[in-house]
This record gives sequence, structure tokens and C-alpha cells, in this order.
Amino acid sequence: MEYYSKQISNLIGELSNLPGIGSKSAQRLAFYLLNRPKEEVDRLASVLTEARQNVHYCKECYTLTDQEICPICANEKRDRKKIMVVEDTRDLAAYEKTGKYEGLYHVLHGAISPMQGIGPGDIKLKELLQRLQKEDVDEVIIATNSSLEGETTAMYISKLIKPTGIKVSRIASGVPVGGDLENIDEVTLLRALEGRTEL
Ligand code: ZN
Repeated sequence: MEYYSKQISNLIGELSNLPGIGSKSAQRLAFYLLNRPKEEVDRLASVLTEARQNVHYCKECYTLTDQEICPICANEKRDRKKIMVVEDTRDLAAYEKTGKYEGLYHVLHGAISPMQGIGPGDIKLKELLQRLQKEDVDEVIIATNSSLEGETTAMYISKLIKPTGIKVSRIASGVPVGGDLENIDEVTLLRALEGRTEL
């Protein structure tokens, strides 16, 4: 990219580091941004900086939030006896969109993947077990993706929790194999939740 001046190349370089953004898209975005009013670009930059600075894990469920306790955990009306385990905050959002799940969540921030060197200690699993020791929970619903990693994680969690006597269930396989939860429509998600089976 030597035909662009250094600052333009830097901008394109940073943008092309984003997931799903190839070098062509990065160039398109860079020139789009450079042609926008300065205030608009300043606003984008400050939203980015502030979100990165203030967003952290919820102290209870580990979802990403800008509050100490996220709105779901803070909501008195939620059923505290059910915890749905998901891989990331986007999966949580997908289930929230259905509007039909009233329990709490636990966000793992990943899945076990021996191939990628991601072990149980690399996701928020210890934190889940600590929660189960402290709180009075009836059921843990495992809603990890139906990929190899998601299934491996589900099996692992089930083995850990079973001895505690807490019911462990897995969402039904209406969710396509290898499917990312967030890309699945709400009806399919609901069906998967309602058709969950005990492990
Ligand atoms: Zn929370």
C-alpha cells in the first residue's frame, strides 16, 4: 500500500485487522471515513474509546456491560433458579430477543477447543462453579453452539455439575450443526430451548 501516504495506510491497516474486513473493504471504509465531517469521525472515535474503557464483565454473569451488575442480573423479576450458559454476549442477546427466557445467564467467553489450545481454564468456567456454590440454582441450561467446540464444552460442564445434584440440560438440536447461535432465528431458538433435554 505504498501508493497511499503513511497515515492513510495506517488507517487502512487498522481497519483491515477487524474481523470480516479484507483489504478492499478496509480501503473503502478508510476513504469513507476521511470524507465524513470531522465531528462525525470524532464522535465515532470517542464512542470506541469510551466503550473500550468502560465496558467490562458483569460481576455475576460475566456478560459485557458498562455497569457493575448487568441489567439482567439486576432485574428482580428474573428467575434466579435457572442459569443458561452461553458462549458469548451475542448469544445472550439472541435469547433475550426472543423475550421468552426469564432466567439468568452465564457467559463463558469462548468454548473449549483442544485444537486451538483453549482449555477449561481459558473460559469463565471456574466462575460458573463458584456461582453454583453460592447461589440456590435448580437448573443449568447449556446453550453453547452445536459446533464441535460447543458440544465438547457442554459435555465437560455437564460432567462437572452432575455430581452437585443440580439439573443440567442441553438445548435441543433444532440449532443447525456448526451454527452460530446469534444467526439463528428466534423461533428456532425458542424451540431449541423448549425442547431441551436433561443430560
Ligand atoms: Zn449479569
